Amino acid sequence: MGILTGKTAVVTGSTSGIGLAYARAFAGAGANIVLNGMGAAADIEKERSAIETDFKVKAVHSPADMTKPTEIAGMVALGESTFGSVDVLVNNAGIQFVSPVEDFPIEKWDAIIAINLSSAFHGIRAAVPGMKKRGWGRIINTASAHSLVASPFKSAYVSAKHGIAGLTKTVALELATHKITCNCISPGYVWTPLVEKQIPDTMKARNLTKEQVIRDVLLEAQPTKEFVTSEQVAALALFLCGDDAAQITGANLSIDGGWTAG
Ligand code: NAD
Repeated sequence: MGILTGKTAVVTGSTSGIGLAYARAFAGAGANIVLNGMGAAADIEKERSAIETDFKVKAVHSPADMTKPTEIAGMVALGESTFGSVDVLVNNAGIQFVSPVEDFPIEKWDAIIAINLSSAFHGIRAAVPGMKKRGWGRIINTASAHSLVASPFKSAYVSAKHGIAGLTKTVALELATHKITCNCISPGYVWTPLVEKQIPDTMKARNLTKEQVIRDVLLEAQPTKEFVTSEQVAALALFLCGDDAAQITGANLSIDGGWTAG
């Protein structure tokens, strides 16, 4: 028996990176999984079936687009109709765009606010009634070090992530007496395929070694000079699902190699 046996976890943006690590960690603890996110159908099916084989749980994929409120509600409904409940909701889907504020494309601002912030509101709004009825729930939002500090040229991302931190606190207060916790996790730079793929080009463009790119370019802001791993983020999320974390709510938990300490 795992700590999530008999429970269901919905993880947005779980076809890749941190979201996939959350899904696999929760499945390893016994949860049935609703995967969500974009990607090639064959790749998604490979991840979905690997979860079922590796962890002897059930997994379905919801193609809900996180810019569409009705599809987000449909994703939660899919979890409830397939498995009987949605007990853990992780709002994790996210995108990035980098530009000076005066040139920031309006449609990129709208997309980042929709996917990185508003989708969490819509997911929470849909999942809370069932959690209240059953008297248990865990809501975890992936924020970022950028929920606490800013960097130039990331106006939409930093605004959305600060918004996630505020939403987390508000929801935690509203649900405090229902045995439903709501927290956010704020990673620094996480080693994902997305980051790994940038390294060869940056090596070439700046005439640097792989080690120099990692230390002086990518990890400039991260005092440990090491990446966070997706698995470390997922382990923190799994801890938040356990009984030992029942009194952790409304928290913004940094996992950033010391970035926001400075
Ligand atoms: P990723 O690009 O590997 O994964 C993003 C996921 O979101 C994918 O599954 C993608 O399909 C999904 N997605 C994107 N747009 C979507 C949409 N419209 N509808 C549904 N799904 C959509 O990125 P990641 O690094 O794993 O990031 C996951 C979360 O972690 C994001 O919220 C990101 O802001 C946050 N984060 C990442 C880092 C990092 O260094 N990688 C650091 C701090 C916070």
